[in-house]
Amino acid sequence: MKLTKQDCIDLDARDQLAAYRSKFTLPEGEVYLDGNSLGAMPASLPARMQEAVAKEWGQGLIRSWNDAGWIDLPQRVAAKVAPLIGATAAEVMVGDSTSVNLFKALAAALRINSGRKVILTEKGNFPTDLYIAQGIAELFGSEIRYVDSDPSAIADALDDSVAVLMLTHVNYRSGAVYDMAALTRKAQAVGALTIWDLAHSAGALHVELNEVNADFAVGCGYKYLNGGPGAPAFVYVAQRHLEQVRQPLSGWHGHQKPFDFVQQYQPAPGINRMQCGTPPLLSMLALDAALDVFSGVDMQQLRNKSKALGDLFIRLVDEQLSEYGFGIGSPRDCNQRGSQVALTHPQGYAIVQALIARGITGDFRMPDILRFGFAPLYVRYIDVHHTVETLQQIMASGEWNQEKFLTKKAVT
Ligand SMILES: *Cc1c(COP(=O)(O)O)cnc(C)c1O
Repeated sequence: MKLTKQDCIDLDARDQLAAYRSKFTLPEGEVYLDGNSLGAMPASLPARMQEAVAKEWGQGLIRSWNDAGWIDLPQRVAAKVAPLIGATAAEVMVGDSTSVNLFKALAAALRINSGRKVILTEKGNFPTDLYIAQGIAELFGSEIRYVDSDPSAIADALDDSVAVLMLTHVNYRSGAVYDMAALTRKAQAVGALTIWDLAHSAGALHVELNEVNADFAVGCGYKYLNGGPGAPAFVYVAQRHLEQVRQPLSGWHGHQKPFDFVQQYQPAPGINRMQCGTPPLLSMLALDAALDVFSGVDMQQLRNKSKALGDLFIRLVDEQLSEYGFGIGSPRDCNQRGSQVALTHPQGYAIVQALIARGITGDFRMPDILRFGFAPLYVRYIDVHHTVETLQQIMASGEWNQEKFLTKKAVT
């Protein structure tokens, strides 16, 4: 039996996370399926930012470092990220970008495993991860071993020359998710350390870094964590490594006593040594407020909804779009898929543009991928239904085939 619109309305009525949607401000009528690139804005943010700018900065001036608690804001934000990724607050530092944190984590891991030369990763990893590894390899004289995006190829490439296994948990194109526990175990069995990039996991999947014994992780503040454009990122270092970790961006905020102004760098105890310079305070305050939306959210329940939204989308695509030449570019099994679904189509770019013109925002990734992210806190089942119905109309009418949709913009 085909799923109806009413079925989707019923699913929303039964959804235990449905109330969280009101904690976001979305444009009227918008269906937003790009929370995996830039999360939606939490409704509390404009007032919080107004207060931060007018009061804390405008009136408090430099006194706010003490009086408004700016100086230990990174730690307070880290304490909110930690439970979302199955870590303790003492293992998480918030600041800098994912790229910069990856640089620090890679350097730290290579120093711990200094007898080994190889960084093992997959060819299809997100470009910044590969580029940072290439920069690190030049500095450290390391070798990068690239393998196919396939768990058994990765396992086969693990040997006692591998210093670090660096993977992104959820692939940015296909949404395929690695078994973090199994690959971490296999890497550690040959003496390698692991670095997991949680850019497409944190805030959408149930992540348990401590439980799987992960060594390092990094992740993004502006995707499913909704911290705002360019929000600070995070880095995780397992407790057992904290006292020996050294990272080369040894800025003063990672110093044991930044306000002693001594000549010699001494790393701060624990995770704080992963800090570098002065954090972007306004962005940090935005992320801090955004994370409050997650308070009380059961991450297992969140994950279940993320799977259900993806399953619904695939089912409706199968039912309604079979004659238009779409492929499913993601695993069909929701346990092997993150919180996004990729469709493939040779006219993918123009089709996405036509959808955006109809108030449904997904995005496009080369060469032929239409990406739809399902942020479980604000995407409804009815939104998924509306998206597939609209896709059907765009294809049936040939609406996508217009000059204005075919010309590529700078950000796709
Ligand atoms: C989005 C994303 C990043 C982003 O890195 P920035 O330094 O914030 O630009 C990194 N890695 C992966 C896998 C991503 O998906």
